[in-house]
Amino acid sequence: MAQVPLAAGLFSWPSDDPRLLGSECSACAMVTFPSQDSCPRCALTEMVSKPLARRGRLWAWTTQNFPPPSPPYAGASGKDFKPFAVGYVELSGEVKVEARLMETDPAKLQNGMEMELVIVPLGKNTDGDDIVTFAFTAC
Ligand SMILES: [Zn+2]
Repeated sequence: MAQVPLAAGLFSWPSDDPRLLGSECSACAMVTFPSQDSCPRCALTEMVSKPLARRGRLWAWTTQNFPPPSPPYAGASGKDFKPFAVGYVELSGEVKVEARLMETDPAKLQNGMEMELVIVPLGKNTDGDDIVTFAFTAC
């Protein structure tokens, strides 16, 4: 049984050192995630692939109390759905990444707390393979 990333090109997988895959502008050094073909700051199309730092700091968050629209959401729905936290994690002070957070109790989250990338199971696809996605956990 395979572990399949939620979407191609989001993160390196399988890997002992998984990284989110962003892009960096060769002209102005703007970093984006997910990767883009053109720079949102200077509009040049000289983006190069950039593996992002595994650790960052929590910048803002909220709790998702109902299943997001599916697709693209591929997790549990109906009575199997469990609320989860989503937030922005700032990596290397250069890019803010929106991600699921492993901590579901908002009282335990703090602005600026250190977070680390983890790859977690999300559900199964129609072939019975495990779908995995990225998330951040306190470290
Ligand atoms: Zn640029």
